[in-house]
Amino acid sequence: MPIYEYRCQDCGHVFSKLWRTLSAAQEAAPPPCPQCGSENTTRIVSNVAVLDGMGGLTPSEQAAVNRQAEKEASILPKSKIEEFRAAKKKGK
Ligand SMILES: [Zn+2]
Repeated sequence: MPIYEYRCQDCGHVFSKLWRTLSAAQEAAPPPCPQCGSENTTRIVSNVAVLDGMGGLTPSEQAAVNRQAEKEASILPKSKIEEFRAAKKKGK
């Protein structure tokens, strides 16, 4: 099951949500911030994780996630993009 991380645009709180399926995560609206209740939250796609033994992403699903990450990165401030890049370097 995919776990997506979200960042609240209002208070900066970062939280994660476990979804039943990848498609559910992609189709649903971002969940509201658990800290301040704001619905102004953004998914941090580069931090998506799939639990071992629960079925991984197919290559086409992974490609879709990557494309979405690039798309969202393009509308983020430069500092955020660099954060994504640093995370990618650390990852596999
Ligand atoms: Zn918040």
